[in-house]
Amino acid sequence: MACRSVFDLPAIRSEFEKAGISIRFIAPVWKYVLQNPNIKIDFDEVPSLPTGAYPLLRSKFRSSTSTLDSVVESDDNITSKLLIRLQDGAFVEAVVMRYDSRMGRYAGKPRPGGPRSTLCISSQVGCKMGCKFCATGSMGFKRNLSSGEIVEQLVHASHISHIRNIVFMGMGEPLNNYAALVEAVRIMTGFPFQLSPKRITISTVGIIHAVNKLQDDLPNVNLAVSLHAPVQDIRCQIMPAARAFPLVKLMDALLIYQRNSKQKIFIEYIMLDGVNDEEQHAHQLGKLLQTLEVVVNLIPFNPIGISNHFRTSNEHNVKRFQSILRGYYGIRTTIRKQMGQDISSACETWYTPKNEFSLQLVKSNTREERKILDLSETQGGCGLLQDFTVYDQYGEGPKGQIPSPGAGGFSGMSDAGGSGPTMFCSTPGAPMISSLDTVVPWRNGRHGWPWVWLCFPEERI
Ligand code: SF4
Repeated sequence: MACRSVFDLPAIRSEFEKAGISIRFIAPVWKYVLQNPNIKIDFDEVPSLPTGAYPLLRSKFRSSTSTLDSVVESDDNITSKLLIRLQDGAFVEAVVMRYDSRMGRYAGKPRPGGPRSTLCISSQVGCKMGCKFCATGSMGFKRNLSSGEIVEQLVHASHISHIRNIVFMGMGEPLNNYAALVEAVRIMTGFPFQLSPKRITISTVGIIHAVNKLQDDLPNVNLAVSLHAPVQDIRCQIMPAARAFPLVKLMDALLIYQRNSKQKIFIEYIMLDGVNDEEQHAHQLGKLLQTLEVVVNLIPFNPIGISNHFRTSNEHNVKRFQSILRGYYGIRTTIRKQMGQDISSACETWYTPKNEFSLQLVKSNTREERKILDLSETQGGCGLLQDFTVYDQYGEGPKGQIPSPGAGGFSGMSDAGGSGPTMFCSTPGAPMISSLDTVVPWRNGRHGWPWVWLCFPEERI
């Protein structure tokens, strides 16, 4: 049976209670684990626990059920993407963003503060919401994370940087995993993490029934709503889940939330060229939000890893949108600086390639041959090479499909346009070689070596 994480609060609390051990001994275990990243299964060195706690911890719990698979640093060293492998082999991502709050000015004065790190955290493997502009949404939903798996992301990140802020804006819809979210935040705000709830932001597409109870369950956390459109029609077009949460009802829920919490609400708004970025949309949004105290965050769309027709709004449209919200409606409006684009950690680009049997094309010794990594490490190698769709990092897929695996372990793939990539696979489990030429035609003259995702239909994963 799989062991539970010591940060899985309901499990450890219940086991301690059953064994007659006071639950006040849980926090010291967490503190020890946090301070000793190398502790594995043996809890014998945790000081001053009741005798019965040691065998119980050893037999039923792990200090960490997940492992840090890799850390990728952005070119500017500001962003680190953590790829975390869960106990069942699934992967999630968490991103550490470092910044200095003293940079820039606020109200004409230097900003207070200093260097700090924000951790962007995942709450699910994949996501049910299926937002059309989001790479995670294109993965489909795999499963919820436990509270322990959520907290373990913080533990892994804490060994890389001092985390001061948490944003639940990674993979998944946090309010769709409500119980684990609440438990995880309670752990994070208690000993030994002791993060201020005011430094924790929960981002949601607007799951109304969960918004209605959030204030009671997690007072003082920040609420960010991924609105992304000023009217229900456009919202439904780009966020299918919005059908279940009509905009009028969502706005009513936000009004009540704000009345009770007395906190401003953050509104996330992704800027999609020709979809939601025109003057009329800015006015519609301004009117919609007039009765609330909000900060609107305009997010330039980042097409990495997504196969769709959305384009990023141009700078002029983004600035015009901002000035309408500010000038006509007095709404504080910021434009999000994209961080970590080079490592696919920017918003809406979260995607666990390994989880999706991804291939990374890397430069090899020859110009003609590119080794494709990782396939042999995923689920059985080439045998799975059928019925997939290929996307490149610019979201220009689908690029082609393999109807069935070829004979003798050979798989070929032809591009939808007829001239594109061919992939060769010698024997199952062996690394694949892609001869090509392949990727070059996909890039439309742009530079940079792409990631390529092979996306299998949901039922095959
Ligand atoms: S934007 Fe958020 S809610 Fe929508 S699919 Fe992506 S992860 Fe899920």
